[in-house]
Amino acid sequence: MAGKPVQKARGYDAVVIGTGLGGSTLAYRLAQRGMHVLVLEKGDVLQLHPHQLGEPVGINIKSFPALAAKEMDPHGLNVVGGQTKFYGAAMYRMRENDFLAIPHEAGVSPAWPVTYDDLEPYYCEAERIYRVHGASEGDPTEPPRSFPFPHPPLPHTPLVASLVNRLRQSGTPVSSLPRALDYGPGGKCVLCSTCDAYYCQLDAKMDAETAALRPALASGYVELMTRARCLRILTSEDGTKATGVLVERDGEQRLLHADVVALCAGVGRSAHLLLESRTAKHPHGIGNSSQCVGLYYGGHTAGMLFPMLSFTKKLPEMHTKTFAINAYYNGAPDWPYPLGVIQAVGQMPFWDRDVVAWWKRYAARLVGERSIFCLYMTEALPTKESGFQVSEGRIVGMRPPVENTETFEKLRLLAIDIFRRAGYQAVAPRHRALYHPTGTVVFGTDPRFSVLDRNCKVHDIDRLFVVDASVLPSAGAVNTGLTIAALALKVGDAIARVKYSESNKFVSSLP
Ligand SMILES: Cc1cc2nc3c(=O)[nH]c(=O)nc-3n(C[C@H](O)[C@H](O)[C@H](O)COP(=O)(O)OP(=O)(O)OC[C@H]3O[C@@H](n4cnc5c(N)ncnc54)[C@H](O)[C@@H]3O)c2cc1C
Ligand code: SF4
Repeated sequence: MAGKPVQKARGYDAVVIGTGLGGSTLAYRLAQRGMHVLVLEKGDVLQLHPHQLGEPVGINIKSFPALAAKEMDPHGLNVVGGQTKFYGAAMYRMRENDFLAIPHEAGVSPAWPVTYDDLEPYYCEAERIYRVHGASEGDPTEPPRSFPFPHPPLPHTPLVASLVNRLRQSGTPVSSLPRALDYGPGGKCVLCSTCDAYYCQLDAKMDAETAALRPALASGYVELMTRARCLRILTSEDGTKATGVLVERDGEQRLLHADVVALCAGVGRSAHLLLESRTAKHPHGIGNSSQCVGLYYGGHTAGMLFPMLSFTKKLPEMHTKTFAINAYYNGAPDWPYPLGVIQAVGQMPFWDRDVVAWWKRYAARLVGERSIFCLYMTEALPTKESGFQVSEGRIVGMRPPVENTETFEKLRLLAIDIFRRAGYQAVAPRHRALYHPTGTVVFGTDPRFSVLDRNCKVHDIDRLFVVDASVLPSAGAVNTGLTIAALALKVGDAIARVKYSESNKFVSSLP
């Protein structure tokens, strides 16, 4: 460890590490519960250079699947709001089956320690906080809900509307894609063409910073420290509870004490911090007595699909991310295993990026500019072997989850067929990538196979919680963001119960 701690700050009720979906939503909840919270973020508030103002600002889509492994890479995505500053804002509830042990072609997707019903009230709140626009119609997998979507679905642009109509007429159920945007009366969203994988300069994308962290800061209960990298989590001498964190900021190290520590640094990074925080009492890293930290890495195997609307004319710039097809989520008449989802993505010039080999770029552009970019996604399974690869005590890489390769190919063919039946040629290159990574600090009921209990508290350490994408035991096949936010609200209540265990009184400072 470099240097010596120079400052010991006053204690907080809780310190939250990371401002992604997990960290920002948790800070929001803790503020609602009247707790004094310090939020640490390694990165800074995203600021544009003057020459970028008015220009779409995106990230290289080749980096999506690699983000998880980027803790070891100084160029990882460190910014207030985490990945959501660039996300596509598709905010789905996981389906009821996703919480159960489900057989797949290549193994079993594990059961969760909570059920859909346990999370349902938190999904309702998360949808309200993130202003999710959607509708249940047309989605055979839509789980029961105690409240309708807080906002109506986004309108389709005319070209997308005619595609959706033709799909429906040819017998395919199509649903609206639930999206977290500040759209509608008084809203800032103008449904532009550069949303998915881009930064919203209008602050209309309901990312973690805009939707959750800013209201939390405005409550007066929460402080944000940017450019503050947590180096390790501190534990009591007897090793039974967390007591604070060691932080580096502007070259100085500080010890910060708090009653509760909540780790929300993202897939790979939260696990890495637990390992880095090893002590004599926890020689393999804290929370790692089961040696599960860094493992059960899962996610989605994703492929690209391009239904072509024209062979001659380029499509105009438009917002396309408004529809999804979940008809094959749980399988097909001739396929016994869950298949996954097909959903629209935003317009993005993927052919300009190094995701496409230079000699394929001309053809990729020709197709890309004339079609509606869609993804199809199948669950990639977490196992005891997937996740950190360690050599001589150092993390040297990430072993990928187990892919359901035949299922994925089946979904690719079904997706092409769906569009053909509606009268469109569809191109679906045999390229696959890992999206929406999960795991590495999973929650569960059995301490032998999980790091956290069902409240996301580290099994053998009190006052230490983890909540971000890394706690999810599996990824299902829908986008995982809303589930991270819902869990963060639930974990916030568990933390508040620790704080108020004597008085059992919650206060509310936010709507
Ligand atoms: C381009 C793109 C599009 C996406 N689209 C969607 C979508 O439409 N729907 C969906 O559900 N999901 C989508 N995702 C995935 C989704 O954004 C992530 O799963 C989710 O945001 C992860 O949240 P998280 O809480 O795990 O934290 P992260 O977003 O990973 O944030 C963790 C934060 O912790 C900070 N941090 C890390 N280490 C430290 C440290 N040591 N000290 C202090 N701070 C630290 C990081 O800087 C970061 O800000 C997309 C992702 C990308 C990249
Ligand atoms: S579609 Fe709306 S939320 Fe997305 S970038 Fe454009 S203005 Fe922002």
